[in-house]
Amino acid sequence: MVIRHYKTLMKQEFNAALTRKFFSKPYFWSSKDKKMIAVKAYGADDKDAALKEMTVKRRDLRDSDVHIDILYCGVCHSDIHAKNNDWGNAKYPIVPGHEIIGKVLEKGSGVTNFNVGDLVGVGCMVDSCQTCNACKDDLEQFCENGMTGTYNGKDRIGGADSAHTFGGYSTSIVVREEFVLTIPENLDTKAVAPLLCAGITTYSPLKHWNIKKGDKVGVVGLGGLGHMGIKFAHAMGAETVMITTSPDKAKDAKRLGADGVLISTNDGEIKQHTGSFDFILNTVPVSHDINPYLTLLKRDATMCMVGAIEPLKPMHGGNLILGRKSVAGSLIGGIKETQEMLDFCAEHDIVSDVEMINLDGINAAFDRVQNSDVKYRFVIDMQSFKS
Ligand code: NAP
Ligand code: ZN
Repeated sequence: MVIRHYKTLMKQEFNAALTRKFFSKPYFWSSKDKKMIAVKAYGADDKDAALKEMTVKRRDLRDSDVHIDILYCGVCHSDIHAKNNDWGNAKYPIVPGHEIIGKVLEKGSGVTNFNVGDLVGVGCMVDSCQTCNACKDDLEQFCENGMTGTYNGKDRIGGADSAHTFGGYSTSIVVREEFVLTIPENLDTKAVAPLLCAGITTYSPLKHWNIKKGDKVGVVGLGGLGHMGIKFAHAMGAETVMITTSPDKAKDAKRLGADGVLISTNDGEIKQHTGSFDFILNTVPVSHDINPYLTLLKRDATMCMVGAIEPLKPMHGGNLILGRKSVAGSLIGGIKETQEMLDFCAEHDIVSDVEMINLDGINAAFDRVQNSDVKYRFVIDMQSFKS
């Protein structure tokens, strides 16, 4: 497998070098190139602009590429952060979408793992160097040479002149075979889409911290990530507590698998659970005070942050020192683990709870996600956009 990756990479690097030698711009970005694939998409030209219909270009297939007809795409809170330039790295136009489910339309001559018609998925990454220590450890998300995001990333083979990547709010996408996932056929396909980000982002830390029967696990924030965190922690056998700011979500939390519900704005409830959690998964998407959650941890326990990628409010050192506690972080998961998570879902009959929308409803959906009003993941049905 490693050798095949290496050979593919060398071939791609060689082709890219040839391209750079003979063309001032990579050939597949030339407007004269008839082979580029124009696709309909929804994107934004600016952080303050609404998303609107636009056309973007996909590269012609390289030997190792798969061209996917997109059926469904989940709406992640990260799509909103990215579009709003909350992380300061947005390149416009931006076409979000990294919870992609589709069918293989065509494949490059070197593709061996997929055939036309296969049901496949694409998550948050579409490429990485495949040679660094992180990639060799199946942790492409931490690629030392920078993984390529499904959108707002830079195509690493195309070179400096290459355009950035466009995501799944579109009719089709071209992706390197190694970053394409096999989707179990026994699950509700539209409800599988959110597993590609919300699923792996919550599954990976629960596995890394070895969550098992007998552990008490808290999940903070009942949104897209949080509802998957509850389902996974429950399926792994843990006693699971939903930690939420929304009392009206308590009933749903129990239906999703929570054994208990803690309303985080209620100091009395926080005190009741003090020092009792083995692990807390924090999915809150904005800066907030993590001190109350730290008091909930047992000695030697960990709270893993996956939500707020920004400065947090000051943390009191005593909340770590008095109990040898840890605060950690986690980023999505590698491709191998993402496939493992999909197989785990197939085995345990786990999918996301979804509300279906058409692409022209995306701006309203963004507003609702920002108001914590989503139950529990919007998924775009791409069919209406195609017809
Ligand atoms: P989401 O659907 O909007 O859910 C977030 C939930 O957090 C809300 O429903 C709400 O739940 C709670 N919340 C919101 N504001 C809060 C506040 N000020 N204080 C306390 N709780 C608050 O978002 P998501 O799609 O799950 O994404 C969550 C975050 O994870 C985003 O920032 C996203 O960018 C990030 N993310 C990270 C990774 C990674 O690899 N680390 C991957 C994907 C996404 P309650 O109503 O229950 O309180
Ligand atoms: Zn996401």
